[in-house]
Amino acid sequence: MDAVVVLSGGQDSAICLALACRKYGAENVAAITFAYGQRHAIETKYARRLAKHFGVSAHKVVKLDFYSELTTNALFDPTMKIEKKGSCPTTVVEGRNAFFLLSAGVWAKSLGAKDIYTGVSQADYSGYPDCREAFVKAQQRMMRLAMEWPFRIVTPFMHMTKAEEWALADKLGVLELIRDNTVTCYNGIPGSGCGKCPACKLRNRGLKEYLNYGKIKS
Ligand code: ZN
Repeated sequence: MDAVVVLSGGQDSAICLALACRKYGAENVAAITFAYGQRHAIETKYARRLAKHFGVSAHKVVKLDFYSELTTNALFDPTMKIEKKGSCPTTVVEGRNAFFLLSAGVWAKSLGAKDIYTGVSQADYSGYPDCREAFVKAQQRMMRLAMEWPFRIVTPFMHMTKAEEWALADKLGVLELIRDNTVTCYNGIPGSGCGKCPACKLRNRGLKEYLNYGKIKS
């Protein structure tokens, strides 16, 4: 096995999956999805469908159902308003990517895989500290030390805007697939979503930007 993709069922991770499968072949790629108490749990259903579509060699849905005992946020608590408080939105799940990457790494090592793909980005930075490059570098170092294994955390979108991501999806021939079969919306509405939450706005603005300008530029 070459790579494990952290697959949420959203746009970013789905394009990551397409990239990893293109590079290594689906038979050398595994995917891992976390059910961590998020209110848009429909994501896991879409993750399953995507894993099946790409024909990855293994897909695991792992429960981190203790998470909501440790903290709360607007993704866990449907009564909490999705908004920005200071620099941090209420949708931040403290330490999420640290948990996800470490868990993915434990599984990856058992499969003999070194690459871990994650769709985090600091370009369209929404105030999520664990999407920054500095965090990913530190996490990679920590995991190498923790497990004596040459992990490589692959972040293809770290410096890409959403429009550039859509351009890449188009280049890979999966634009329609990603547009129609992923859930990015905080309200759990697939495809172009509710159109109102911050995740939808970011995603839809990027797609519009790509469709309007991207093709003319290239
Ligand atoms: Zn939405």
